Parts: sequence; structure tokens; C-alpha cells
Amino acid sequence: MKTRSPILLLATLLLAACASVTNPVTGQRELTVMDEKTEIAAGAKAHQEVLQEYGVLNDAALQAYVDGVGQKLAAASHRAQLKWSFTVLDSPEINAFALPGGYIYITRGLMVYLDSEAELAGVLGHEIGHVTARHGAQQATRQAGAGVGVGLATLGGILVEMATGVPGIAQAAGGAAQAGAAGLIASYSRDQELQADQLGAEYLVRTHYDPAHMVEVIQVLKNQERYAADAAKAAGRAAPSAPGWLASHPSNDQRLQQIRGTARRLVGGQGAGWADDGRERYLTAVDGLSFGDGREQGLVRGRQFFHEPLGIAMTAPPGFRIVNDSEQLLLINGARDAGLVMRLVPAELVRKTGGSHEAILRQGLGATEGRTESLKLGGSLPATHFAGRRRDAKGNLGSLDATIVSGPDGQVFLLARLARDAAALDRARPALRDAELSFRPMSAADRAAARPWQLKLVPYPAGGFAQLARSSPLTELPEQQLRLLNGVYGAQAEPKPGQRVKVVE
Ligand SMILES: [Zn+2]
Repeated sequence: MKTRSPILLLATLLLAACASVTNPVTGQRELTVMDEKTEIAAGAKAHQEVLQEYGVLNDAALQAYVDGVGQKLAAASHRAQLKWSFTVLDSPEINAFALPGGYIYITRGLMVYLDSEAELAGVLGHEIGHVTARHGAQQATRQAGAGVGVGLATLGGILVEMATGVPGIAQAAGGAAQAGAAGLIASYSRDQELQADQLGAEYLVRTHYDPAHMVEVIQVLKNQERYAADAAKAAGRAAPSAPGWLASHPSNDQRLQQIRGTARRLVGGQGAGWADDGRERYLTAVDGLSFGDGREQGLVRGRQFFHEPLGIAMTAPPGFRIVNDSEQLLLINGARDAGLVMRLVPAELVRKTGGSHEAILRQGLGATEGRTESLKLGGSLPATHFAGRRRDAKGNLGSLDATIVSGPDGQVFLLARLARDAAALDRARPALRDAELSFRPMSAADRAAARPWQLKLVPYPAGGFAQLARSSPLTELPEQQLRLLNGVYGAQAEPKPGQRVKVVE
């Protein structure tokens, strides 16, 4: 995906010289990189890639509900004639975005944190605003590799080198190369974000939602930042830097202020009871929605990792942290100076090498001279460990300490040891070996433990979130996570007893 973007960029720049369209929002002619036909065609093509890379949430009722809200807003927008499409993506990431031509996406990961139909409308209205004002079409640049901000200060460099130095091995383990999809999504300027807020607010008023709910959505995002900082502090980690989608947006404080002003101006002339927040409809729609990692992406439960589609499980050594991103699984030690990365070896390389571990090490990883050792992982899976030298794609020599293992269903996996330096690798060696040996086909017990969490609506009990937290499967600051889920993080108001609130089970 990344390698294709320079060509796309060149093509759009060439178009820029000759196209001019009327902007649907301003009514002004503007020089553009895409006329409407090109815009729709580009959107339709990228839409297929987004669907393939993120995966569509398999829930027809919820898709129809979100599409209904979206179509109502789009029909009240400046480009009602476009063929609009609204899709809930099966991703635990918190995200929403638009493609040129009228393609709008929201992740289930964002939907769990919203509390009303009006907040959903606020998200969709903002994204519709990007499309009606032709922000994506105006923006010829493509943003590459957004997201995945796991803060691997010490391991990052090595991972990048591995990803680039090993042709084809940086393939998604779960089929969700989300960083790739992000490359298709335009990054907007601050002014464009503020304009999308204004337009969204306008569309909300036209469809009888109070744009004040857009303020609640910004609050949801702000609370995520605060929770991430609080959770990091509680675990003794450094506070994470804001993920890409936050970094590319204007400061949430500035957006809050502007939306409050816009809401006041637009709502001023409306009589009481003109708006409907659709809270009960929304809560009913999200009852049962998956929360956190799904079956498709693989699940982390304590020190265990389960990946049902791949049929494998692993156990992290005590004190290690598990990071499951779209391309790989990372087990990082407490000192954050060593770890193990697990990836699926691309099927093409397995085919080309006939699944030979030695050939995969040589052709896929550039292994040259070193020591190889045969072993069994998880008691039964044939594996080959290599420790020695490798030559990367540019011909540079480096070291490699990796295991190739044949998993279930003819799949082959790479387990590579990573460390800041040789001393760190030496210290971590026993723990990393334990982690490697834990790699196994999923057992019946593993399958039972790998049940994804889902949202459930319950009446708010007298004992409050503290009571709900005691029976929650959430492990990291469960009470705070429940407050976050219900839009009352920090010092905000409590729900009333008996009011429906979201829990995880
Ligand atoms: Zn935006």
C-alpha cells in the first residue's frame, strides 16, 4: 500500500492542472485535484480496500441502524445527491473517518463509548462534513502509517528495521493491516476539522439532534486521553503520546469551544422539545456489541494470548506486557529492553520454500552463518531456532535470533527475539525461551478462555460503579473503565439508580 501512494500522488497532481469544480458548501469554483466523477471513483476503489483491511462488523441490525442515522443526516447535507454509505468496522480501535465520494466509517471501538444516537449523529455529521466540503478531494496528500502508537521506545528501531529488511514478512497475522488502510485516509488541516464540526452541527440541527451532543463526543475523546494517562501512571509506565487521530485533530479544547458557540447560534430559535437524543434507541442497538479485542484479531487475557482463526495460543512470562497490533504480537519485558515478536510467515514464502524452516530463515530473513537447533514448541510443534548473522535487503550484516515453527493448518510462524543490546538479550534469554516454548495449538481450555467480551446494559445499582467493577472481567482500573464507558469519567455526574448503564461481560 505504501509503495503505491507516490504514484497516486503523482496522478492526482497531474489532474490538478486541469480540473475545476463548484464546492458544494461554499458555492465557489475551486481548482481541484479531483472532479466529482474522479472523486467518487477514487472513493469506491479505496472503500473496497478499507472493507478488506479492517473487516465489516458482522451485525446486520446494527449496520442498518447506523446507516439509517447516517442517511438521514446525509439527506440534509449539502451533497444529498451522493450515494452515501455508512459502515461499522470490526475494529477495537477508537476511530471514525470518511473517504471522498461519500464513504463513512465508524469502528465498534468508538461506538461502545458513545451514549446516544445524537452522539453517533455527531460523529457521522462531522465525517459527512469532510465529504460535503470536499476536504479529502482537496487533499492530494496521503498519510502513511498512522495509528499503532504503542510507545515502544526501545524496540521501535529494531522493529522498523525488521519490517523493512524482511520482504513480505511484515504481513498481517489477522488480516487487519490497519496502518495500511490509514494510508488511504486524508489527513486534514486544522481549519478543515473545524469546518467539519460546523457543518456537522448544521446537519444535526436540520435532523432534530442538538449539536451540543457533539461536545459530548469531544469529551469522550478527551476522557480517553485522560484514562490512558491515568492507566499508564497506575502501571508505572510513561504516559502514552496521543495516537495519530488525536494528533491530527485541532486541540479538543479549541473544538469544544467552537462547537459550543455554533450550537448556541443554531439552536437559538428552536422551541423546547425540538430535539431528540435517541439515548434509549442507541443503548438498545449496542447491547451485545463486542468490546475490546475480537475473535478475529486475537485476544489478550492476563498473560495469555489466544488467536482462534490461526488456532494458536501463547503465554507471556511474568512481568511481560502483551501488545497485540494488526501486524504482530509483541511480548515486552518489564525493563522494556527486550522482547519477542510473533508473526505469520507469508503463505507465499511458505509455498516457495515448501515450508522448510532453513529455507525460510535464509530466503525470508537473510540468515547467513549461525547455529541452528531443532526443537518442539508447545510439546508438539516442530520448530527450528537460529542464532547468528543475517544480511538485510540492503546487504548490511546484522544479528538474528529467531525461531521458525510449523503451526496448525500448514501455517508457519516467526518468533524473533529483540533487544536493545547483547547484554539485555542475555538477561532476557531464559524468559524468552519460556515464551517460545509456550507457543501451542489452542487447547479446549484455551478456546473456552478466548471468549470475547461484550457490552451489556444493566440497571445502575445502589453500590454504583464500585459494585459493578467487582464482578467485571476488566482487569486494568475496572471502575474507571466502567465510568469511561458510560461517559462519566472523572468528576462528572453519576447515573441515577435504575438508569441503564453499560457493563462488560
Ligand atoms: Zn475530522
